[in-house]
Amino acid sequence: VDDLVLKVNGGVMPEETESGAWTEQVTAGRFSGRTIIVTGAASGIGRATASRIAREGGTVVAVDISADKLQEFAGTFPEGQVVPVAADVTKQDDLDRVIAAAGDRIDGLANVAGVNDDFSPLHETSDQIWDRVIGINLTGVFKLTRAVLPKMLEAGRGSVVNVASEAGIRGNASGNAYTVSKHGVVGLTRSAAFMYGPKGIRVNAVAPGGVATGIPFPPNVSEAGSARLAPFQQMIPGLATAEQLAASITFLLSEDGTNINGVVLPSDGGWSVQ
Ligand code: NAD
Repeated sequence: VDDLVLKVNGGVMPEETESGAWTEQVTAGRFSGRTIIVTGAASGIGRATASRIAREGGTVVAVDISADKLQEFAGTFPEGQVVPVAADVTKQDDLDRVIAAAGDRIDGLANVAGVNDDFSPLHETSDQIWDRVIGINLTGVFKLTRAVLPKMLEAGRGSVVNVASEAGIRGNASGNAYTVSKHGVVGLTRSAAFMYGPKGIRVNAVAPGGVATGIPFPPNVSEAGSARLAPFQQMIPGLATAEQLAASITFLLSEDGTNINGVVLPSDGGWSVQ
């Protein structure tokens, strides 16, 4: 992983973000006075995104299925800055609690929670893998976006950023179920951007390439998955950091992205131009 990170960063190792490192660095910034919901906030890209928003003054409703890790993360910020809500994005009751925790205003939503498939080809993909991956990566994004829209419509403003993937824009970047789920996220993003842009609500996506996070990825996938991944690994120009992805996501979420709607922004070290 380190070698790949070095490759994409031109030989410069980015600084590690230790949990708690930001505790005293919350300042007024792009998200002051804003309430943003971030899913997948206990790990990787979601955690880095939640952290960045909180450090820039926002109140984060931090959502993840992993309750302990979420609690630990929220505890590194001043009381009330990061509100942890242990929730499964596929369960409507859980999402109702997320909306309730956000209170009167929801300025933004970052749909980051996601899981990998096992890099199966289609004829070896089980129903279980298919249902899990589509359920979390696509239906979860649909359900939470649907849930935030009434408050955004009422306010006449809002910003949603979905985390797609390189696998959402090309066919050879992952297994079948994952690729389908991320193509679905791209379709949902464009369709919602078209529907809600005129109502003041922007919907965009970020498409990461390879990112060093907790997601099962080489070398953490199963042996069978690793074998299937060998050609795929050759294509990745390098691994990014979660913080680099957080920078892309918060750009689109914030007022900096105010003229941008319906884009799928590759944040992939240039993989998509190959
Ligand atoms: P990660 O595993 O570090 O974080 C994902 C988080 O989502 C975890 O904290 C997990 O507990 C949470 N989660 C999983 N299922 C959930 C559910 N049902 N409800 C609520 N939370 C749930 O992985 P990551 O790499 O940070 O992934 C974040 C997003 O980025 C995912 O959508 C992933 O598909 C996407 N992505 C990652 C990469 C990469 O190389 N890491 C590349 C392209 C896209």
